[in-house]
This record gives sequence, structure tokens and C-alpha cells, in this order.
Amino acid sequence: MTLFKLFQSIKLSLEPVAKEESTQQARLIICHVIKMDMAKFLLSYDLKLSESEQAEINSIVEKRLTGYPLQYIFGTHDFFGLEFLVNESALIPRQDTETLVEIALNQIKQNGYKTILDMCCGSGCICITLSVIGNVHATLSDISPDCIDLSQQNAKKLNASNIDFITSDLFKNITGTFDLITINPPYLTKGDMDNRQTETTFEPEIALFGGTDGLDFYRRIASEYKSFLNSNGTLLLEIGAEQGEAIKKLFPNSQIVKDANGVDRVAVI
Ligand code: GLN
Repeated sequence: MTLFKLFQSIKLSLEPVAKEESTQQARLIICHVIKMDMAKFLLSYDLKLSESEQAEINSIVEKRLTGYPLQYIFGTHDFFGLEFLVNESALIPRQDTETLVEIALNQIKQNGYKTILDMCCGSGCICITLSVIGNVHATLSDISPDCIDLSQQNAKKLNASNIDFITSDLFKNITGTFDLITINPPYLTKGDMDNRQTETTFEPEIALFGGTDGLDFYRRIASEYKSFLNSNGTLLLEIGAEQGEAIKKLFPNSQIVKDANGVDRVAVI
């Protein structure tokens, strides 16, 4: 079968799950299997695909039709222009989180920050990006040893060598003080969890659920963070779109920043 015919047919099959992203996901799946650069796709419509390539593409489409995220199928996802390994032990990095990274990079530059603590690190995407681009000494922590393992693989893949890894439930095993603390804690409410997209049900609940009102982790952070922050330091928290007001009450000295979609996304404290 030619690439064009296969593309048309899998685009249609993906529509029920991928909706407006079905064209893009069909392209991504084909390019992944035949190891083609996306830029060459349009010029390769006449290419004949082998039986085994077609079979591999069909098996990926079948898995995707169960709602399973494409990022877990491929095992990688781009964040801030870097390619991270991803697996079911951690949340798939979100574009929303790039807002926090942009603010962190500005803070590092403006204030000459040298040390960073990133908690609830998941795949390590925040901290490793800051270490690679921001050139700082980073400490990365997560409650899940599998996330620490994944972050170590990502640090190696992206040549980020200036990082310490600590398995810790928030501040429990952390010692010392830092110029910058970044945290994207679980913040979905009970209602968000009940209504989440099928794709998100394959992600770890421990990385998403923030208690009935989504604020459990922020309450714990508010009562502990001060003794881990240097005197001119900054705490950056990713927050849910509806949480700005509640966060201002928990952290009276916070400034709320919106993301690219115009919703509350980061608290700068
Ligand atoms: N932004 C994520 C979502 O909406 C949640 C991330 C988190 O809980 N830290 O799925």
C-alpha cells in the first residue's frame, strides 16, 4: 500500500479517539515506524510501505484506539525542544508546564541563581531543562523511585550531569537551602479526576490527584517551604486554572501568572 492510502485510512480510524489531532497523529505514527523526518512526509505520498511496516502501524493504531496515549506508545515526548523518555510511572510532560520553565529561566538569569530544587519531578522535564539551558546545580526529587529512575535516564540522555537525585515525599528527605524551588505537584480535584480524558486515566493517579479540592500538596508546601529557601530565593508552583484565588490565600506573597491559553498556571512566591 502507498503511504498516501495508508495515511488516509488510519487518519479516519483514529478520528473517534484523536478527533482534531487525527491527521497529526496519523502522520506521527507513520513517520515513527518508517523512521522518516516529518518534513519529508508530504513529498513521500507514493512511497510503498512493506507488509511488516503496515502491520506495525496497524498495531499502534489499535493500541491508540483504546485511548492509550501516543507518547507512551513511542516512549518519548518533546518538552521545551528537548526529547524526554516517558513511561507509565510519570505524567507526560505538558506544554502548560513550559510557562513555569520560562519563568524559572528568567529568574535564574535576573537573580544569578545557582541552586535549584525540583520536587514531584516525574520524568524530570522541568529540572533537566533548567540544568541544560539554565546551567545551574539541580536537586531533583520524587516520592516514586520509578520516577527517579526515569529522570536519571533522561539526565543521561540529555547530558545533564550537574544533578543530585533524592527519593522523597515532598521535603521529608531534603536537606539544605536553595535559590529556586520548582514544584508541579498533583493538583486535580476529585471532580477533575472523575471527568478526566481517557488518555489521562493511563497516567499515574499519584501524579495527578491533589485531594478533594486539589490543594492538599499546596497546604503542605506552604507550611514547610520557608526553611528550604535562601533569603533572596523564589518558589515557583504550577497550579490549576481555577486555583489562583485559593493559592493567593495560602501564599499571601504570591503573584499568579497565566499560561499561553490565558489561564492561571504559575504562582511566583
Ligand atoms: N495539568 C495536568 C492535567 O490537567 C495536571 C498536572 C498536575 O496535577 N500536576 O492533566
